[in-house]
Amino acid sequence: MVNYTEYALAVLAFTSGTSAFSIGPNVNVKSTSTSTIRSSALSMSSVLDAPVRSPESAERVAEVRDRFKAAARDAAAAKGCASPDQTDEWWRTPEDQTNREVTEDRPLRVIITGGGVAGLVTAAACHAKGMKVAIFEQASQYAPYGGPIQIQSNALRALERINKDVYDEIRKAGTVTADRVSGLKIGYKKGVFMNLGRQYEKGDWLVKFDTLQPALRAGLPATVVVDRPVIQQILINNGIPDGTVRIKSRIKNYEELGQGDGLKINLEDGTTAYADVLVGADGIWSSVRRQMHGLDQAADGVAASGAAGGALTEGEARKMTKDNVLMAAGANRRFSGFTCYAALSEHRASNIEEVSYQILLGKDKYFVSTDGGGERQQWFALIREPAGGVDLEATPDNPNPKLRRLLEEFNNEEPGDQNGDVWDDFAHELFRATKEEDIKRRDLYDGAPLLAQGWNKGQVAICGDAAHPMMPNLGQGGCQATEDGYRLAEELSTVKHTKDIEGALSTYYKKRIPRTTIIQIMAQLGSDLLVDFDKMMTIPLVGPFFLTMTQLSMPFILAFLYTPEF
Ligand SMILES: Cc1cc2nc3c(=O)[nH]c(=O)nc-3n(C[C@H](O)[C@H](O)[C@H](O)COP(=O)(O)OP(=O)(O)OC[C@H]3O[C@@H](n4cnc5c(N)ncnc54)[C@H](O)[C@@H]3O)c2cc1C
Repeated sequence: MVNYTEYALAVLAFTSGTSAFSIGPNVNVKSTSTSTIRSSALSMSSVLDAPVRSPESAERVAEVRDRFKAAARDAAAAKGCASPDQTDEWWRTPEDQTNREVTEDRPLRVIITGGGVAGLVTAAACHAKGMKVAIFEQASQYAPYGGPIQIQSNALRALERINKDVYDEIRKAGTVTADRVSGLKIGYKKGVFMNLGRQYEKGDWLVKFDTLQPALRAGLPATVVVDRPVIQQILINNGIPDGTVRIKSRIKNYEELGQGDGLKINLEDGTTAYADVLVGADGIWSSVRRQMHGLDQAADGVAASGAAGGALTEGEARKMTKDNVLMAAGANRRFSGFTCYAALSEHRASNIEEVSYQILLGKDKYFVSTDGGGERQQWFALIREPAGGVDLEATPDNPNPKLRRLLEEFNNEEPGDQNGDVWDDFAHELFRATKEEDIKRRDLYDGAPLLAQGWNKGQVAICGDAAHPMMPNLGQGGCQATEDGYRLAEELSTVKHTKDIEGALSTYYKKRIPRTTIIQIMAQLGSDLLVDFDKMMTIPLVGPFFLTMTQLSMPFILAFLYTPEF
């Protein structure tokens, strides 16, 4: 008779112990430089020299924290984006000859809506190719949501190709996260039904992955984590000319003036602008996409998915949560099923030297934490519930409603959470180091790949979250936006006559859509599976098999993400 328990244990032992890709013992640590990169054709099992993690010095901690605070102050003051209006900006009047040869003296004129990652990178890439660029951003100041983001190896390569100064500054400001373990842990004691498989204690690793070797194998630099305001500051200071970003400039609509004749762009404040190309980098609720795809008026509103234009106050955040429910229906965007609490805590985590990124899995919720650099931890608590929910208002009896909810949802003491599960201590460690006012909440939306509708029409294209909003599990939303910016500028730089713009935008879409479609689907699937991991694990044979497949597939997923071809 087959002993299922032994079989399942053997499969699991194989998964966790002998995988050629688990990070710990296999990383051959010799060099602190990521520039010692060898052939990308090496086999998946070979191990390349890797950067060594050494604890951050007190000076480095102070540098990272101070830089973040200074950049956040700049962002709040919209430094570099709030120059008074002149009357002679190039975009105020059309070119004398709109339908024309594109030359060094008469370069392409590109207007970008949205000054988030996608808009800023696209502007930097177009500027580097000699085009005239302007960004219209609706917000009056930048209001980041959820702390730093991972600029992964693929996006670093795109930045390096766009502008070496930007790339160098980002790497200098960033903290390498690829030099430690990442993976999935079980949040609480859990095992296969009736002991027919391995039984896990809370906090046990289920899957580990190494993000470093796939990057080195592809000849790419190691992933870093950087504060969003710092990324914006670097792009504004090093990537684009002064005065490129105009804030409080919400685009209402645009008019095509004919093939090769450019566009007239109308702002909400009554301003009119003229350009050869319009790029909608205006996030998940994109106004440009709404017009391009003929969507409902309700599809479009004042809300952002990522770096910029987020809620400035708790009141605004509550309003956005309600507005988003209506906008999602009009915009054909999908509510992911999760609300997400996020914060950055100034705290030296107990696991800092070993772990850079981990997910604690549970029933209908999971807790993600990542090193944010400067002895800070960034965390996200994702909880499955209907869209549009808001927290209780603070009262004298309950001054910290968000924290209170989170401490209960991830309770680490008996009687545990509402399901009776007693959680690993790590979530509580970070909650206890976080102030109520630093916790931001947002429902997460994504969307299906735009295979039928496309990303371009006439002299208009979209990029970033406007084109491919995705769940944050893979940390690739901003990275794909960065690749988009690079590719868009490459294709536009081939345009010799304004009549060729449409063709160049179409090539941009065709080159980007296969890759972003796969990544959007992986991010969505990953998110849906994470929350059911807990159920799946308990099924004899299926659970261990599922874990094995997850472990084995990770190197291939990372090899797909970390490519210099985009
Ligand atoms: C919790 C979480 C964690 C994440 N972690 C990572 C990570 O580690 N790595 C990563 O790469 N990505 C990550 N992402 C994804 C990333 O944040 C987004 O993909 C990225 O910020 C999208 O940038 P964007 O510029 O396309 O859109 P946005 O940042 O949403 O910017 C759009 C901008 O357009 C403006 N705008 C909107 N409408 C108009 C209009 N009509 N006129 C003018 N301006 C307008 C908005 O104000 C906004 O500033 C994460 C996302 C979340 C939610």
